[in-house]
Amino acid sequence: MSNFLTKLKDGLKKTRNSWFDAIFGEDRISDEFFEELEESMILADMGVETSTSLVEALRQRIKDDKLKNRAEAREALISLIAQRIAPEGSFPLDDKAGVILIVGVNGVGKTTSIGKIAHEYKSRGRKPMLAAADTFRAAAAEQLGIWAERAGVPMVRHQEGSDPAAVVYDAIASYKAKGCDLLIVDTAGRLHNKKNLMNELSKIRKVIERELPNVPCQVLLVLDATTGQNALAQALAFQEASDLDGVILTKLDGTAKGGVVVNICNTLHVPVRFIGVGEGIDDLKPFDGQEFAQALL
Ligand code: GDP
Repeated sequence: MSNFLTKLKDGLKKTRNSWFDAIFGEDRISDEFFEELEESMILADMGVETSTSLVEALRQRIKDDKLKNRAEAREALISLIAQRIAPEGSFPLDDKAGVILIVGVNGVGKTTSIGKIAHEYKSRGRKPMLAAADTFRAAAAEQLGIWAERAGVPMVRHQEGSDPAAVVYDAIASYKAKGCDLLIVDTAGRLHNKKNLMNELSKIRKVIERELPNVPCQVLLVLDATTGQNALAQALAFQEASDLDGVILTKLDGTAKGGVVVNICNTLHVPVRFIGVGEGIDDLKPFDGQEFAQALL
């Protein structure tokens, strides 16, 4: 098993633990089975509505496919969960140039994730460039600069308090001049003022659309998995402020709340694209829904 999978499973073990093992350890499919399963899914932070709808879907699948025991039901539930958390194919910018706009509140792991993504794509032969458009705190650009150096990629920054859209404008000029093919933009996550956040993000997007027409932009929201249901509340608030294309879920190496992934994807209808499983530069992986669902149950 890869180092990453071991870490992921260790992290999820607290969720997975005895509940699911006990439930799937028995054989007979009964009403009690569905009740216990739903309860355990809710306890694992999958949310009431999401758990209820998954259990309903499982009932139907068991009927349709004439499944006979809990082992078969488990496999069916894994595939149902996988469908909901990773409904689309690979990350759209895997094989073409584009912009990743990173949003999320401070402390969730935005900076770290940007550094890891830059490293990951550079090692695949891509040419990433970073834009330090969180100009709200001087420390944000400094921290991002450290990650840019670590990953060995260029970064554009301005002074604290300057216009984030102007940073993006300059970063795009540099991106073009250097022949880069992946622009990763950090933004300030001031969720307490939704109107400001909305204006700031839409201004940044306008600059990107104008300066890089026809270049796809993916807005990815970074969420800290250890915050459980609070991560879902943040996700809903950000979805109001900006269209989201996907989620980066961090700190899965140390959480009892891995199930929240299922709830977030099911509620927002966006896929998880990357997961963070540690603080090192290699500790970010593309998200595999099937693998995750398996680790979860
Ligand atoms: P930001 O404020 O959103 O930019 O957050 P940072 O990138 O500075 O990260 C905040 C803290 O979370 C730092 O101490 C990181 O090392 C830590 N962190 C980020 N991602 C992960 C992860 O996947 N696993 C663990 N264990 N820690 C992480």
